[in-house]
Amino acid sequence: MSDDLFLKIINREIPADIIYENDELLAFRDISPQAPVHILIIPKEHIKTMNDLEPKHTEMIGKLFLAAAEIAAKEGLADDGYRVVMNCNRHGGQAVYHIHLHLLGGRQMGWPPG
Ligand code: 5GP
Repeated sequence: MSDDLFLKIINREIPADIIYENDELLAFRDISPQAPVHILIIPKEHIKTMNDLEPKHTEMIGKLFLAAAEIAAKEGLADDGYRVVMNCNRHGGQAVYHIHLHLLGGRQMGWPPG
């Protein structure tokens, strides 16, 4: 068994509310939502942090953002808007070391973030 929590979700070793999947990506609802809609979009490839991205990941990262926009539209967020966030390491608030985009929407977001 892997110790990467999100690989366990990919492999269906732990349950999640999965809303989108293709060969490269998976999207599921966050277990502790910080907004009415809070979805995590992850690559199936294990990449620990944003610092580990390489040029070979360029297309996959683009697909993560395109999936986020597509899911936002399906969730009815496109017109009012939404936020996408990728946390990196301690100061970024990263808790799970498998890169993921947070898609947050359904309420007004503040700036700057806390
Ligand atoms: P990070 O802080 O690493 O950017 O975000 C990790 C996110 O994963 C958090 O928002 C947290 O609520 C979510 N999370 C942690 N464990 C689980 C889980 O077992 N299932 C789901 N669906 N989300 C999780």
